[in-house]
Formats: sequence, C-alpha cells, structure tokens
Amino acid sequence: MTSTFTLVQDGRLAVRQGPAALADRQRERLAAMVDFARARSPYYRELYRTLPERVVDPTLLPVTRKDTLMARFDDWVTDPEATLGRVRDFIADPARVGEPFLGKYLVSTTSGTTGHRGVFLLDDRAAAVVRALSLRAARRTLTPSLTARMLVHRMRAAHVVATSGHLAAYAVIARSRAAGRLHARGSRVLSVHSPLPELVDQLNRYRPVLLSGYASVIALLAGEQLAGRLRIAPAVVSLVAEGLSDREHRRVSSAFGAHVVNTYACNESLALGYGCPLGWLHTHSDWLILEPVDADYRPVPPGQESFTVLLTSLGRWAQPILRYDLGDSVLWRPDPCPCGDPLPAVKVRGRAADLLSFPSRDGGTVRIVPMAFETLLESLPDIDLFQIVQTTSTTLRVRIRATAGADHDRLWNAVRTGLAALLTDHRTDQVRIERAHEPPEQSPGGKYRVVIPCA
Ligand SMILES: [Zn+2]
Repeated sequence: MTSTFTLVQDGRLAVRQGPAALADRQRERLAAMVDFARARSPYYRELYRTLPERVVDPTLLPVTRKDTLMARFDDWVTDPEATLGRVRDFIADPARVGEPFLGKYLVSTTSGTTGHRGVFLLDDRAAAVVRALSLRAARRTLTPSLTARMLVHRMRAAHVVATSGHLAAYAVIARSRAAGRLHARGSRVLSVHSPLPELVDQLNRYRPVLLSGYASVIALLAGEQLAGRLRIAPAVVSLVAEGLSDREHRRVSSAFGAHVVNTYACNESLALGYGCPLGWLHTHSDWLILEPVDADYRPVPPGQESFTVLLTSLGRWAQPILRYDLGDSVLWRPDPCPCGDPLPAVKVRGRAADLLSFPSRDGGTVRIVPMAFETLLESLPDIDLFQIVQTTSTTLRVRIRATAGADHDRLWNAVRTGLAALLTDHRTDQVRIERAHEPPEQSPGGKYRVVIPCA
C-alpha cells in the first residue's frame, strides 16, 4: 500500500513541476481508475461497455448522479461485501460513528444540501490520499509561524460540526480519534445543534488554537466574539464545506484576529481544494477532475459561472466517483492565479451559507444555521425529500415527500415535534410550523434548496 508519506512527497513534487506534471498524473490516474471501476464495479462495467479500452479523456464518460448511483449501490461499490443493507444497519447506530465499517471503510452520509441522502465509503488508500492532500493544503495555506503557534498549543482544535449520525466532518474526526492520530487527540468536537450561549461557553473554556466549522456557524460565532461574549484567540479559523462572501470572510478574520482558511470539501471528495489569499480555491488537480458544465452537461468556458460541476475523483476505490454531478455552480479562473499557486483556481457559487433569523423570547434576534434543520430532518426515517421555507419571520412551511408506504401523519408529528424542540432550544418559541400540501419545489435552475430563508 502507498503510504501517506510517499503520497505527500509526490504531491509536493507535482506542484513544483507545474501544470504539465499535474496533467500527466491526472491522465494516468484517470485511465487506471476507469480500468479499476470496469473490473470491479458491475455498474461501471455496464455503463462503460462501449467505451474504448483505455480512457484518458473524461468527457468520454457518461455523467453519473447520486440518485441513480444510490439506487444501484450494491453494483456501484467495488467490494461485494459492502452492500447497502449492511451499511444502512451500520449507520442506523450513531454510536458506531468513526468505527470502520466491515473493519476497513470510513462511512459518511450527506449533509442534505440536495435533500437526497447519500452514503459514502472511504477505503484506507483513499483516506491516505485525503490525508496527503490535507497536509499539502495546510502547508500551502499556513505560514511557518502559524504552524509553530499551533504546535505550541498542541494543535488544540475545536470542531463545530453536526454530531448527529454519520455526517462527513464528524465521521472523519471520530475516525482519526479512534485511530489515535496525533492531531485528533488534542481536539474537541462541539455540536452545531447546541444553543449558541452553550457553544460560546464551551469555547471560552476550551480556548482552541484552531477553530473549524461550517462557514455559517463560524459567522455566527464571529458575531459573538465581536459582541464580547466569546473571548477566544485562535491562530487559525478553518471554514468547512460552505463558502462565505468576501465581506463575511473579512468580518470573521477581524473578529478573531486569526488567519482564515477556506476549504472546499464534500462527501464525494473530502479534500477538493483550499483557499488562497486572493479568495480563490485551488483544487487538487492531480487527484481529481472538475468540469464546469451547463444544465445539459455541456462545457462552460473559464471565466463563466457554471450550472453544475462534474467531479471525477482519482483517489477513491471502494466507491468510484466518476464524472459525477456535484451540483455546485463554479467559476473557473481563466488565467494563472497571481498568488503563484499552479493548482487550478475556482470560485464556488452554490454553497454560500444562509442563516435563518427569528425573534427571540427576550425581544432580540436568534439566528440559526440551515444545517441544524437539515440534520434534524435527515435523522427521521421515511423522508425522501424535504424543504423548509421561511415564509414570514415567524412561519416555517415544511414540504415533505415521504417514502412509499410511510405513515404521513406520524411522520408529520415527528417533524413538528422535532422542529418545535429545536426552536425552543434556541430561545425562540413564537414560530408557527406549517404543514405544506405541495411537495418540495425546484428553484428556476432545477435544484432543490433544502432551507429557504425569508427574503
Ligand atoms: Zn490563488
């Protein structure tokens, strides 16, 4: 097996050698991954039956989507032991988060940005690639003095993530801890579901040198820091998964007096890219291919916003992700980034964090991250697709498409009770929860937004 060390060395070399070397690795790894998928995944064998023997051009591959892959899960995976039935039993038990599935796979489920639940398996070799890419990103985003400051504080890190179930951010941390990795031993996981005052209190006591979390949660915490209730001095603040506007980015940076790092990651690729000082995300093009496309999957030229982006991961074997519709709108930088990083630079438009605001019990305003609602509804069985629309500052309209055979009234009771408890926890209790008769609706671009704040 290739060690993380060898992968780190190769990753460093590829960047030093520049774009041609990155492209060479991309081509070779694509050909190898397509070979592997054809040999080991019945789904891809069938899908690729008319393709040439050696594929080095990703545009030859048919587009894949999460719903069709999930429907064919047992044929999609390259390990016949890893069936959807088994993995569902495994994830039904939240206590097993971080434990390897079948003794070898990290399991994560989607955070619900599309409303459809996806289940992802990461093999050890893929995890080594993710670690190597994360180390490369850290090396390229942190100065030696920041690294030294973090080491002096023993990398004391606070991760504010959704801790219900097996969502990616938490699963990765739990797995690293179980494996006894150094950086994970000095870390603490705080729940994004905690009421804000509780979170603030925990952070004040823990005093992390690295604060990481979903961008929307970090934006909320920056407000607490500016108000003087939160008093921490992290060296680095790392934003996971969602993007922030340039203005919010500056606000977070000045609130904490910290170096703010953006990371671009998702279940399908736990290390897609990292932010540079000029606000671009540099993507690990030696280990993945991103193709910005329009709604009909035709290429969108650099410099223009795409409708979605197709992801090909060149480093995950248990469950190959090949030309997969990721759903993010991206803008590809047409020229080399002036920051000097040779990895391709993109901006992601599709994931800016929306906060929902409600009047609080004591007359102020309560802000809640969409993730809190998403993870709550995702934890309920029998929901195929959902959408929460804030129609007024005190009304939430809930659209649900239940799975076949579900008991609708019982499901609705569970939804209403869960939402009411969440709102009460956040000290707002005048919000009306409305049961919608219409199903979740698509936005003009064809996507389902899971949480739609009041304009
Ligand atoms: Zn750059």
